[in-house]
Amino acid sequence: MSGVFFFNGDGRAYNLVSRGIVLDSNICSMCSSSLETVEHVFANCVELRGIWSNINRWWNVQNPSSVSVDSLINWADHSKLSVMQQKYFDAVICTAFWVLWNFCNSFIFDSVKPWKSNIFDDIVSRSFYWLSN
Ligand SMILES: [Zn+2]
Repeated sequence: MSGVFFFNGDGRAYNLVSRGIVLDSNICSMCSSSLETVEHVFANCVELRGIWSNINRWWNVQNPSSVSVDSLINWADHSKLSVMQQKYFDAVICTAFWVLWNFCNSFIFDSVKPWKSNIFDDIVSRSFYWLSN
């Protein structure tokens, strides 16, 4: 999948380019060096992938041996977290995907660009808020 994407309410990603929606470019707006695919944005973009190391340090879990969307979704399954901790960790990972997706859309479409340095803090605060409500 390449090109700017969005997620419908059912969680499926849709490629705007393949749907005939004209965009200026389908190159990643963050690094300007690769096609903007789901895999690239969430797992491989040099400008964003550091977020997974921040989560690694926050939770004291080992990074997946190979970072991909699939390995991130299944990250908790390969950790030494308790079953209850794995449920919370899964929620944090889902929150991270949501924050990254929201950040990218805001970076592309908003006139005031969001700060990359706020991504991790946003993940932490939203995770606490969503898990406690
Ligand atoms: Zn990129």
